[in-house]
Amino acid sequence: MHTMTEDERMPLWDAQGHELHPASAPEGPRATPARYESALDALHEVFGYDAFRGEQQAIIEHIVAGGNALVLMPTGGGKSLCYQIPALVRPGTGIVISPLIALMQDQVDALQELGVRAAFLNSSQTPGQAREVERAFLRGELDLLYVAPERLLTPRCLELLDGGRIALFAIDEAHCVSQWGHDFRPEYQSLSLLAERWPAIPRVALTATATAATRSDILACLSLQDAPQFIASFDRPNLCYRIIEKHEVRRQLLDFIRAEHAGECGIVYALSRSRVEQTAEFLSSHGITALPYHAGLDQATRAANQARFLREDGIVMVATIAFGMGVNKPDVRFVAHIDLPKSIEGYYQETGRAGRDGLPADAWLAYGLQDVVQQRRMIDDSAGDSLHQRRQMRQLDAMLALCETVTCRRRDLLAYFGQTIEPCGNCDTCLEPPAAWDGTVAVQKLLSAVYRLWRERGQRFGGGHLIDILRGQLTERVKQHDHQSLSVFGVGENLSVDAWRGILRQALALGLLTVDLEGYGTLALTEASRAVLKGERTLMLRPVAVKRAKSGRQRTTTAAQLDALPPEALARFEHLRAWRGRIAREHSVPAYVIFHDATLREIALQNPPSVEALAGVSGVGARKLETYGPAVIECIGEVGD
Ligand code: ADP
Ligand code: ZN
Repeated sequence: MHTMTEDERMPLWDAQGHELHPASAPEGPRATPARYESALDALHEVFGYDAFRGEQQAIIEHIVAGGNALVLMPTGGGKSLCYQIPALVRPGTGIVISPLIALMQDQVDALQELGVRAAFLNSSQTPGQAREVERAFLRGELDLLYVAPERLLTPRCLELLDGGRIALFAIDEAHCVSQWGHDFRPEYQSLSLLAERWPAIPRVALTATATAATRSDILACLSLQDAPQFIASFDRPNLCYRIIEKHEVRRQLLDFIRAEHAGECGIVYALSRSRVEQTAEFLSSHGITALPYHAGLDQATRAANQARFLREDGIVMVATIAFGMGVNKPDVRFVAHIDLPKSIEGYYQETGRAGRDGLPADAWLAYGLQDVVQQRRMIDDSAGDSLHQRRQMRQLDAMLALCETVTCRRRDLLAYFGQTIEPCGNCDTCLEPPAAWDGTVAVQKLLSAVYRLWRERGQRFGGGHLIDILRGQLTERVKQHDHQSLSVFGVGENLSVDAWRGILRQALALGLLTVDLEGYGTLALTEASRAVLKGERTLMLRPVAVKRAKSGRQRTTTAAQLDALPPEALARFEHLRAWRGRIAREHSVPAYVIFHDATLREIALQNPPSVEALAGVSGVGARKLETYGPAVIECIGEVGD
């Protein structure tokens, strides 16, 4: 039950004390007049972009004409324009429903920087501030109004909306209606009232989460069954996917950041709070500005860390999955996972937070034998019915298959979402194809060691001891159990411990072995083992990674390097970035609200001689040109040619 707050019981009145109820508003409700003739005008004038991307144009035209729509696009695909431009072109105010109260201020700041009349209503405001916004809406002075769902559903807010003119409803993060997803918000389900109360106002639902179950929940809840669905490609060509073998993961992470992303902004995901804390401390002690974020921190610390991440350049956020939805910072240059994600959906969403600006970015994951064992055990130990466990197991298996694939990672990822592409040329397996080898015999040796121990001795052991047996090591334990007399003793002498660990990991990932349920980490055969033991199945395995010597900083060519700026342009870019940092601090807004990195890069490359020439750069709209044009030209002038 919703209980009204003091503020909600207040009448809607204007500064003169007139009630602003529709019937009693001094001059009746006014519609915000349409500000742009066409969608293309708004795109050029306000946003400074040359052309629509993908399906943006079709979506926008459909909504401008009064239609409803479901928009499915990956993170960074350009969903916001799909409702922002119709709100500018249609008379009235676009109402944006978003669960992300913490980000509304930044979203509104960014729009105001573009000259758009935007505001929000949420619990972070004082009643006075909220009334100011309400008045602006009723007077028809707003293009866009952001509202949290729980706020929208209050009688006061519903009445307010009735008193003004609404251009459209945009339901952002629409997957929150679904109980299947991990972002379920009960208030979202009450949004079904939009269709009942305002059937003639266009509704556009937007999300980056693509599963079929979620989609049908959205359609049902928002009465969009008859609306067209615009489903963009989920490919993010600018992201370079890389999955490496885990040895000393913090050290590997540090090397990766230092070598490829020094001074840049990134997110590191870990599974537990303690790993988050330890990793943030480790990075900090090595000179990287890293902050922790997890549900165990108090609200104030979380908010402060998130604000720093959004505002400052070059911060690395180390977080659990509690950090993420709606983090729309466009210049996150890498997302690193130091633990195996639980599903491809989660992995895809988390990595999608990198490179929203379309510039090259890295999705880096380190994974090892222990991850497989640990996650399988976590699922076994988890409460819940066996159907749920089976579903989790399937999701994990798909994730493992992605880790172990010897073909294009992006192709496997997109195949998971039902899309087909050619090998991409921008993932580790494409850039440096792994020398896949026929590991059938090696896996047979491993499986038969498990089989013999069980059949002949009734024993089960963990991976370490099995590897000792295969490699013919006369350890204490081997002697104690007389395992040197097994026929498999020493049959794997030719391979190193690391090689065997790699084979074991892949056998687990492929479901040829399971970790037993009693929790000792001992290994058992599965149904699938049989075909391998009988020689009916060939297994192509990933090569065994050789631990890299610490000194040899053998870097792979990343997409970022291929896209590097020439030296003069780089100098201009750095100078512009420093200037942007100062302006952002003065205005206390995130740097990207002033200009995106992509725009600064273009300016640095084109080196425009005048404010007029600057107008041609993508991302420089009319308002920005007016506000910052002269300063930008002066700034690049200081660098010289
Ligand atoms: P999403 O909400 O889908 O994650 P955004 O709406 O934040 O994505 O857009 C991602 C980035 O792409 C933003 O920096 C945005 O300004 C930019 N963008 C969107 N549409 C265009 C376009 N037509 N041309 C150039 N840049 C665009
Ligand atoms: Zn590829």
